[in-house]
Amino acid sequence: MPRPSTLAFVLAACACAGRPAAPDRMVAVATISPLADVVAHVAGPGWGVRSLIPPGMSPHVFEPTPKEVRLVAPARLVVTVGAGYDVWAAKLAAACASEARIFDAGAAAGITADSGEEEGHVHGDLGHDPHWWLSPPLVAKTLPALARELAALDPAGAAGYRDRAVAFAGELSRLDEEIALTLRPVAGSSIVTAHNAWGYFAERYGLKPVGSIEPVPGREPSPREIRELVVAARREHLRTLFTEPQFPPEAARVVASEAGLRVETVDPIGGVKGRIGYEELLRYDARAFRGGLETR
Ligand SMILES: [Zn+2]
Repeated sequence: MPRPSTLAFVLAACACAGRPAAPDRMVAVATISPLADVVAHVAGPGWGVRSLIPPGMSPHVFEPTPKEVRLVAPARLVVTVGAGYDVWAAKLAAACASEARIFDAGAAAGITADSGEEEGHVHGDLGHDPHWWLSPPLVAKTLPALARELAALDPAGAAGYRDRAVAFAGELSRLDEEIALTLRPVAGSSIVTAHNAWGYFAERYGLKPVGSIEPVPGREPSPREIRELVVAARREHLRTLFTEPQFPPEAARVVASEAGLRVETVDPIGGVKGRIGYEELLRYDARAFRGGLETR
């Protein structure tokens, strides 16, 4: 699909959308569902918070459509993962919500794109991994800056944003302890996942990523890459392959059957029933990794 025509289409949709009707609540959008839930925790009842990427879609190959234009147009705050992950969102906001503030949450977490790499998003064993939100302590790190950002847009609400940020940081700290406890019995285990998304999660909870099915998201693995993965899975005595709902299942099926692995689903993005909220999503993933790695 040629990118320029899509972009032109979206920009035309911006022009057609016109000025959005004034919403009864202030509007914030975040690119992915777990981040929208984080924003909602700090923003509180005065804001309507939506996520941009529809469930099941991979942000790596995502292109905005008129639906995202409609979502972004009334936004006063656009929150991005940053680190080169969702560069399109800032462009979309600049075109369709030019007065919105853009908050790069990754930068607030201390995670930035690798300079020199294309969009800073390299998915290799030692490459740059932008999925920092899968580590609750990194999310907690963004909260004070997020509260300040909301206060800049709504000074009267500043104390509320600050208080809710502190309260949510407490929740995240309890979540962190709970996940560590869930994964303690399988700590040290090697994992193979759909793509290189679990570096921060693995580092926090003692797992060891040893490979991924799509080293470059959006590009099907070559037969040689599949063979190498099968060899790695046997060498590491893996029993489970962790797939993700945003990735096509075909290559995973081949690897699983060649290497004799069972398949378990983990989900970096959620946005579907049972995985809507940030904490819900992280608990789901902790249980899925534990279930897939436990000796039965
Ligand atoms: Zn990813």
